[in-house]
Amino acid sequence: MASKDLNAGYDKIPAGGRVTLVGAGPGAVDLITVRGQNALKSADIVVYDDLANSALLRSCPPGIEKIYVGKRAGRHGATQGEIGAILVREAAKNQHVVRLKGGDPLIFGRGGEEEQVLTEAGIPFEIVPGVTAAVAAGAVAGIPLTHRQHASAVVFVTGHECSGKPGDAAVDWQALARTRATLCIYMGVRRLGAIATELRVGGLRGTTPLAVIANATLPNQTVQMGDLDSAEALVASVQGQPALVIVGEVVRLAEILAQARSALAEV
Ligand code: SAH
Repeated sequence: MASKDLNAGYDKIPAGGRVTLVGAGPGAVDLITVRGQNALKSADIVVYDDLANSALLRSCPPGIEKIYVGKRAGRHGATQGEIGAILVREAAKNQHVVRLKGGDPLIFGRGGEEEQVLTEAGIPFEIVPGVTAAVAAGAVAGIPLTHRQHASAVVFVTGHECSGKPGDAAVDWQALARTRATLCIYMGVRRLGAIATELRVGGLRGTTPLAVIANATLPNQTVQMGDLDSAEALVASVQGQPALVIVGEVVRLAEILAQARSALAEV
């Protein structure tokens, strides 16, 4: 059993060294979990990147080392191999290492690769889930990702794989179109025009609504609505990154609800 194998490695390193992979949530500092915040409070060292709100680092004990591994302007991000090596090296010094990652660590966050490295090195680790961008984007835009009449399934998918990448990792957008699920597309803004074309070929109407939510839960958050036919044009006007795209009939519901709300406000 996998869990037995994971535990088997635990006694290979000195007691005390461990890693907590913490989901920082989508951006707003108060959207980290209590467990995640407690992990930060008990950290000996933190390894973080861009999507995790850096204000969260104030929860750490004063003076601890904080290693930035993102790719902010002008700086090369650490490679995944380097990040794994840092986690192993620091945990082996008998420290509690907190690896702070945007959203949820296991959703398009390479948390799985870090789990593998830690398992191979015999380092105990825990995962603290976080509010993933799709869930946050739905909430701020008022889009119910599921609805009894409109969507019985939700898909979290990366738009990064649209270039016809061979092999199992390539996303079959036409097949996804046939599911009629709500599609939450991460990292998809740049390729949205091509994705929209694939979804239409797969059978979705050009009038299928979509929303692009940028910087969800942050002060500079924006929500833009369109449909598959206007996707290409919409991309040009998207303000800000990171941005998440939601495609599906449930988006229309948010528009109807928003109109009803503003009509009520005018009364
Ligand atoms: N692990 C993260 C996702 C990392 S992939 C999570 O669970 O949310 C990075 C992508 O996430 C971005 O390209 C964007 O599509 C999305 N994203 C992350 N934070 C976001 C935010 N605040 N608003 C909108 N999209 C966001």
